[in-house]
Amino acid sequence: MDLAHDPLWARCQQLGAELSVLGTDEHQLPIWSATRPGDSAQPPILITSGSHADETSGPEAAVRLLANLPTERTVIVIPHRDPLGARGIPAALLACGGDDASGLHTWNDVRQWLAERHLLLAEDGSFAIGLAGDLAIAGMEPTGDSFGTEKIIKSLMFWLETHPNHRAALKGRWIVMPANAPGCDRRGILECGYSIRLTRDNFVGHYNRFFGHPEAPRGVAVVQAFIDDVQPGLTIDLHEGWNTRSYWFVSDEASAFASRSEQLEQHVCDALDAAGLPMSTLSELVPNMPAEHLLRFTPKSHGRLVWRWPPHQESPWGVALMPYAAQYGPAFQTEVGRWNSWEDRLAYQRVLAESLVLADRHLGRRSPSS
Ligand SMILES: [Zn+2]
Repeated sequence: MDLAHDPLWARCQQLGAELSVLGTDEHQLPIWSATRPGDSAQPPILITSGSHADETSGPEAAVRLLANLPTERTVIVIPHRDPLGARGIPAALLACGGDDASGLHTWNDVRQWLAERHLLLAEDGSFAIGLAGDLAIAGMEPTGDSFGTEKIIKSLMFWLETHPNHRAALKGRWIVMPANAPGCDRRGILECGYSIRLTRDNFVGHYNRFFGHPEAPRGVAVVQAFIDDVQPGLTIDLHEGWNTRSYWFVSDEASAFASRSEQLEQHVCDALDAAGLPMSTLSELVPNMPAEHLLRFTPKSHGRLVWRWPPHQESPWGVALMPYAAQYGPAFQTEVGRWNSWEDRLAYQRVLAESLVLADRHLGRRSPSS
């Protein structure tokens, strides 16, 4: 476990944070938390990121927030919810039993690496999928209009539909794919990966699904057990969405802390206005958003999307961290526009998280119904 080589672990150590390995994922890679020294007020504030490891501003913002959040409450961050994806494609191949893959720089390099070792399962144009140890890897050469992994996932789904006999080889495996947004600042093609998993009953999930399910993958179960243990009074899960503008997910009126959440939101809206950060509207997101997602959204002002999560029984695999954590306190999910510059993405993450925390301090302790 080469945590010493994780630059964010080293930075949290320099901040004097208390570092804990919460458990390991299915590839025996550690999922770790950092708790800010000196604070003791409970319940803690939990900042999570990296479930989609190609959304790179999240882990960086989480560590900066650990250092600077204006609160007396205990602050805990979990920067890498998908430690395999965070290492990037060559390191992921190595972690899953491959020999040295450090000389790989493009998708064609990866495809050739897989082909030379007779690990390719299928190829169709530049799309290819291969197996390495318990991992599958899928990708395609990015084109001018590539804006992320969405196109790879579509190609993968089409390939599975047309080759149903190959489904069995992928079931129960994590499939990692390159970030595939070559023009996106700090989202290098092979430097970080997005992981999805095909379940036995054909659900395609990722590290921000499976919460509350008895068969949740280990990486998700580790984070879920930690949330149950610390019962955060405020949870912020950091992501990157599409376009240049940003949006954020808020809970619906049926959530346990709906009234307090709405009060927090108002402070954030004011802070966004004061910072002059433009936010996205739902109609701007429609071209990129999967249809099944759109059905669940209701837009509010200032980039807020109310996500109506279906009851657990109706969506046994599909619960994300945010609605799971919302049983313990207000919970939010940021979606910062990936086509912003690195510093602008970090500014969005900071303003959203900081204003939530300041509003939380301003409101003081309240019961769930207040
Ligand atoms: Zn995400």
